[in-house]
Amino acid sequence: MAPASLLELIGNTPLLPITRIDTGPCELFIKLESQNPGGSIKDRIAVSMIDAAERDGRIRPGGTLIEATAGNTGLALALVGLAKGYRTKLVIPDKMSQEKIFHLRALGAEIIMTRSDVGKGHPEYYQDMAEAIAVRTPNSVYINQFGNPANPDAHEKTTGPEIWAQTGERLDAVVCGVGSGGTLTGLTRYFRSNAPHVKMVLADPAGSVLAHFVRTGEMTDAGAWLVEGIGEDFVPPIADLSGVAEAYTIDDAESFATARELLATEGILAGSSSGTLLAAALRYCRSREQPERVVTFACDSGNKYLSKMFNDFWMYDQGFLTHPAAGGLTDLVQ
Ligand code: PMP
Repeated sequence: MAPASLLELIGNTPLLPITRIDTGPCELFIKLESQNPGGSIKDRIAVSMIDAAERDGRIRPGGTLIEATAGNTGLALALVGLAKGYRTKLVIPDKMSQEKIFHLRALGAEIIMTRSDVGKGHPEYYQDMAEAIAVRTPNSVYINQFGNPANPDAHEKTTGPEIWAQTGERLDAVVCGVGSGGTLTGLTRYFRSNAPHVKMVLADPAGSVLAHFVRTGEMTDAGAWLVEGIGEDFVPPIADLSGVAEAYTIDDAESFATARELLATEGILAGSSSGTLLAAALRYCRSREQPERVVTFACDSGNKYLSKMFNDFWMYDQGFLTHPAAGGLTDLVQ
């Protein structure tokens, strides 16, 4: 039967086996969150965070959703907001790519640009500014995905049960990254109560503080990385890292090479964070002594990275290819 609305297309994403890349003794599956109508895993949390605000009476029909993000959460809020009759206002630091801003404007979101060279506590810092705008906008809600319990709830209630059912309740490990921590926290809760033997594995970009924190309990200074959507310079308030069994640090070169390999071999066009996740999942799988069944994610589609990670000239400029327009996988700097 045809769905009643676009919202019904969110979730229930396909789970595909990796068949051409060497996964050691393991079976590895990738959940295609890129198939959500907004193109990313964030559609799930947009629905659950808006539903929670409606339930708590924090927003009424015709109201305004306010968030600080130029990423997938902004796209998801604008899309779900459109379907539910809300306006969306996004505060965006001025370093964000033009494509994302064009996309958001075309979806009808209102964009407020702010400086990207100021930190937390400064009135022009994007999160502080979004919160201040929400205070003075009637019938509005500051979504705040980093501190919103409806974010992990979405994954506990939808992503976790889908994975468990799709693997026929035979699963040993899940590999995921942390941006807000919603995915990891929600899945940790779901598997803790339904299948506590399932191990949570963290994939973290080199430069992020999270993998080191999991391994040692200590905070370090953050570095810089180019992979988008995962890795942090702090532990987000909603992130529960206590269930992480193993943590892998993956640098940009390996993340991009793996995302390109995923497209060239399996035909899956996924974003840069999916490269980090798959690289960590492959390391995990190849280091097992016994066969295991493992799930990881394509968190978003690769379309928005065509001019970056999938562009040989950009890759060469960044030092990830040995010569411009080299093309093939063999010319990648490892
Ligand atoms: N990948 C991408 C592309 C993302 O945008 C995000 C969210 N920022 C994630 C992964 C991580 O998800 P979470 O916020 O649930 O930790």
